[in-house]
Amino acid sequence: MVRYAKRMEQLTNSDIGDLLKLIARPDIISFAGGLPAAELFPVDQLRQACDAVMEEMGKVACQYSSTEGFPALREKIAERMKAKNNIETDADHILVTSGSQQGLDFSARVFVDKGDVILMESPSYLGAINAFKACEPTFMEVPTDEGGMVMEELEKILATTPNVKMIYVIPDFQNPTGRTWTLERRHKFMEIINKYEIPVIEDNPYGELRFENENMPALKSLDTKGLVVFLGTFSKILVPGYRLGWVCASDEILSMFNFIKQGADLQTPTVTQLEANKYMEMFDLDKHVDTIRELYKHRRDVMMKTMEETFPKEAKFTHPDGGLFTWVELPEYIDTRKMALQCLEKKVAYVPGGSFFPNGGHENCFRMNYSCMPDDKIVEGVKAIAEVIKANLK
Ligand code: PMP
Repeated sequence: MVRYAKRMEQLTNSDIGDLLKLIARPDIISFAGGLPAAELFPVDQLRQACDAVMEEMGKVACQYSSTEGFPALREKIAERMKAKNNIETDADHILVTSGSQQGLDFSARVFVDKGDVILMESPSYLGAINAFKACEPTFMEVPTDEGGMVMEELEKILATTPNVKMIYVIPDFQNPTGRTWTLERRHKFMEIINKYEIPVIEDNPYGELRFENENMPALKSLDTKGLVVFLGTFSKILVPGYRLGWVCASDEILSMFNFIKQGADLQTPTVTQLEANKYMEMFDLDKHVDTIRELYKHRRDVMMKTMEETFPKEAKFTHPDGGLFTWVELPEYIDTRKMALQCLEKKVAYVPGGSFFPNGGHENCFRMNYSCMPDDKIVEGVKAIAEVIKANLK
């Protein structure tokens, strides 16, 4: 009999994988994934960029390259972080990764030993929970409300928990709730972090997808002690298939990520780095992001309007200012995993909320995505879910 590592037990005993397979059926109206709208992928422009790369530097594109990443791309990333997030940085403080998912995997490997405590928002990104699990941590959840992580609760936990090694947060249009931290919370958070000197992973895949109101400063832009590790990605502003993300951190921390990257995969593929770099030279990425923002804002509006019109008052949901998700809370007696099967009979899907809590519970919540379905499907799907919710009310 094959014997597996102990850590695999934590990874394989989740039933969400089976549900996600069901949801992937093509006849389903799916609000379950977090997929960008494929109809907006700039395929033709990427093909032109790809042709130019192969003509001008085909041999370089096909060769191994440095672990840090292609210098011109890292420069553009640093410039973008200055412009969009007000973060003072440069190419030397950027490591290109295979999506920000790889940055999450490396974060736990860099900071966390078995049994160490990771603090995260309650709820938080399922993919981060799973990535961190490989390091066998103890998860502690910090309560959140509509303004983000609750700072009094964070302080309480830090004051009484000795071995917190890392804090993972998504302050902008959080996955799964769509919520954004207030400015006040951001400042308070940095004050607390500076006192305890604990590394923070600031995961920001959605920050540029703001539909209204002012941009909030990234935690990294408020970081005076080099404690914040910022994870960025091209997945939601360009295409996810290139698997291009980045880590921005202090010299010391970035060198640790670099060691791990060398052992993991040596480097992010040269060819996609060169193509994304060329795309940004030939075309206007900002303009492309404007187009994405416009479509997602429209789809958010369609989903919100239909939810307001059809969901019963017992269902509470978030009104995101950006990003891809809204989060629904039902009365505690409703089990959204069971309800997901009833919705599947009506050919509509969401992700049950329990999976977003590392320590379980909260089965009365669920996450809905609005970025990748056309208007008529959004309306039809939301109406079907509303009917199922009503049938489950006592
Ligand atoms: N972090 C968050 C919060 C996400 O929602 C996702 C993907 N949806 C990722 C990281 C990973 O994205 P990628 O690896 O494509 O950059």
